Amino acid sequence: MYIRVSEIPGGGLDVFASRGKASIPHVLEGMDPAPLREVRLVDADLLLTFEGGDIWIEGSFEAGGEGVCDRCSDPVTLRLAKAFQTFLTPKSRDRAPAGSVELHEEDLDVGYYDGTGVETNDILWEQVALELPMRVVCSEACRGICPACGKNRNLEECSCVAGEAKGSFEILKNLKGKKE
Ligand SMILES: [Zn+2]
Ligand SMILES: [Zn+2]
Repeated sequence: MYIRVSEIPGGGLDVFASRGKASIPHVLEGMDPAPLREVRLVDADLLLTFEGGDIWIEGSFEAGGEGVCDRCSDPVTLRLAKAFQTFLTPKSRDRAPAGSVELHEEDLDVGYYDGTGVETNDILWEQVALELPMRVVCSEACRGICPACGKNRNLEECSCVAGEAKGSFEILKNLKGKKE
């Protein structure tokens, strides 16, 4: 939802409190959730404050993600959550932010906006994207699929010994057989 800076009252705008929790975009438009298959927002809070031409954003989100384990291909569900603060300054402005605030806080991101308003989807998207894992595993201890016999080593021991792996043709055959 697009919020114009002119719509932000003096005390700030609590976006989802004023527009209703139903206005939370559960599926973020145009978002690539890779390496997850899907990410859905469960809850979000967004407080916008407009001051001296800059927008201060304080918010949090809670999301559920789904994907498959990189090692064993089992389905994985995970929860992503974060509280964040972002500071947006107009793109055209070529000067230090109002009051020369010291922006050294680690949690504070600094960005730009067009001077007119902000798209709340984009704000949330950016924060969710920062929390996406590099790779998905069902557990750090996941032993994955045996490259030699194709068995899920979390479920059954196989007697393959490293160095004794079968030829690549055999592996392909096994993998193929598993999919069918
Ligand atoms: Zn796994
Ligand atoms: Zn094996």
